[in-house]
Amino acid sequence: MEIFHLSAECYPMAKVGGLADVVGALPKYQTNAGHQVRVVVPCYDTKFRKENEFECVHWGNVKLGNFDFPFSVLKETSDKLGYELYLIEIKELFDRPNVYGYDDDIERFLSFQIASLDWILARGEVPAIINCHDHHTGVVPFLIKYAYKYASLQNVKTVITIHNGLYQGWFGFDKLYYLPEFDLRHVGFLEWNNSINSLAVGVKCAHAVTTVSPSYLNEINYAANGLESLFNSVRNKSNGILNGIDIEVWDPSKDKMLEYHYSIENFELGKQKNKEKLCEQFDLDPDKPLFSFIGRLFEEKGGDLLPQASALSLSENFENINILILGSGNSEIESQLTQLRNDYKGNYNVFIGYNEELAHLIYAGSDYILMPSRVEPCGLNQMYAMRYGTVPIVRRTGGLRDTVIDFGDEGNGICHDQASVGDICYSINRAVKLYDDKISFNTVLKRGMTADHSWERVCQEYIEIYNLIIEKNEI
Ligand code: ADP
Repeated sequence: MEIFHLSAECYPMAKVGGLADVVGALPKYQTNAGHQVRVVVPCYDTKFRKENEFECVHWGNVKLGNFDFPFSVLKETSDKLGYELYLIEIKELFDRPNVYGYDDDIERFLSFQIASLDWILARGEVPAIINCHDHHTGVVPFLIKYAYKYASLQNVKTVITIHNGLYQGWFGFDKLYYLPEFDLRHVGFLEWNNSINSLAVGVKCAHAVTTVSPSYLNEINYAANGLESLFNSVRNKSNGILNGIDIEVWDPSKDKMLEYHYSIENFELGKQKNKEKLCEQFDLDPDKPLFSFIGRLFEEKGGDLLPQASALSLSENFENINILILGSGNSEIESQLTQLRNDYKGNYNVFIGYNEELAHLIYAGSDYILMPSRVEPCGLNQMYAMRYGTVPIVRRTGGLRDTVIDFGDEGNGICHDQASVGDICYSINRAVKLYDDKISFNTVLKRGMTADHSWERVCQEYIEIYNLIIEKNEI
């Protein structure tokens, strides 16, 4: 079947977080399974855009109310990604280095959605499925159903996949005129709490809703930044599908970003070499267990708990542990974490910023990965970490609950229940004891390394949902 994925992010073209990894991997496995898969993302000014060849396959003008933006559709010309990648180039709106964070983000992503549909319409072929991802593409299911100009796409079935329900793409009804003309009897689908809520629109209008883990599907019924009752009301068309990981990109035996490769056969030596390199780079002691964190430094990730939890754990265990943090986000958290460097020199370090290569080295060279998240729709870090023989320490929430089991229950990691400094420190203490018992530690680590998180199984679950909504054939 012909499947389109519309998304704000796709690795390696543009990545901020897990959304990019999923949209960069799932289509590859769907293509391998025999489907025609096309991924459409905005054309940002990224390294990938600059270093790769594209051909223009369509151009037009996207109308956003009174504004008119010329746009082109650029197709990536090599076959190296394993799926067809198309970029929507709207120079005024996307020729910038960052994916998000601009005052005109609403205009940017609405234009992206309208231009994508204009192009899909102009092709003349009607795809079977459009899989939208997060709020940046949430208006698409509405437009397909009710905008007059897309009437010939009405048979397309739409899915919205929720990678993060906290962000919803709100805008006021004063911007309603941005949308192509639609049947006004359906204006109610746009509304949530007196504004237009892009995510809610997608959830209401798509034929199916998926979340990126089963536990997250349950959690959004009582914690979804105001959309709880909506998620409750669409349970009959919702499914939680745990993400996979791209085991071709994330493979310690041939990871292009690593100098020292290893597998389950020789992980002790391989990890030790990566750890020595990492510790040398960050002035840490490779003979002590290394606890790392990689991610966005926000409350949702428990980032606000990290400074105090690190300080307390380091004071208690000063002779025993190292902590290394890679991330960026809230400036207050960033400065607290940077401050700690002075107090715990030789045992603690932090890299503020985004660095893909360093992330790979951290997964390979650490003993533990910390994930004290308050909210974690799926979480990929714990799966990458496990594949690289790094034991996850997680708060039981969302996808972390679905993938990590405490070693006390013969599992693959260390778990706690509260998003609190106390719980993190308690888990770190348990981890130090476990690390000292090499046989038990290696048993836990190997359980993680051998777990199957591949996309093949997951890809099939998506296809089953697509087939189901095609068979039902509801408008
Ligand atoms: P998110 O909520 O941010 O999407 P996920 O766990 O789903 O969280 O995915 C995070 C992805 O982003 C992983 O691939 C992780 O390695 C990567 N990542 C996050 N922050 C950084 C950073 N500062 N540098 C490099 N990679 C990062």
